[in-house]
Amino acid sequence: MSDPSIFTRIRNGEIPSEIIAETENAFAIRDIAPKAPVHLLVIPKSEEYRNVVELAAGDPELLAEVVGLANSLAAEHADGDFRLVFNTGPNAGQTVFHVHAHVLAGGLGEESLGA
Ligand code: AMP
Repeated sequence: MSDPSIFTRIRNGEIPSEIIAETENAFAIRDIAPKAPVHLLVIPKSEEYRNVVELAAGDPELLAEVVGLANSLAAEHADGDFRLVFNTGPNAGQTVFHVHAHVLAGGLGEESLGA
């Protein structure tokens, strides 16, 4: 077994961060290094899936739950429009291998295409 991911440790209260929303199988936090006026992370509670490709293949309903929570958060924290980014693989900027969606909102420019 590998060590719990940073997101699991946040969920377990071992690393301080406010859980701002939760569904049955996913939760959301604010990104510690925001790249947009609103930059949230939506994370499956299970760290079984390392990236969105594995999540889509293994549990498409959970992927839909992640997208639904992202949509609700964009409505709550911005004007409802949002960009959803799943960095997939280290060469695409993925640093945490517990699948998570970046929700970018609140006035986006081209410069914030990445997350
Ligand atoms: P990625 O690079 O796509 O794997 O995304 C990982 C994200 O987690 C980055 O945007 C980080 O800023 C964010 N992050 C890392 N540690 C924390 C933390 N303790 N609280 C909130 N966000 C974090």
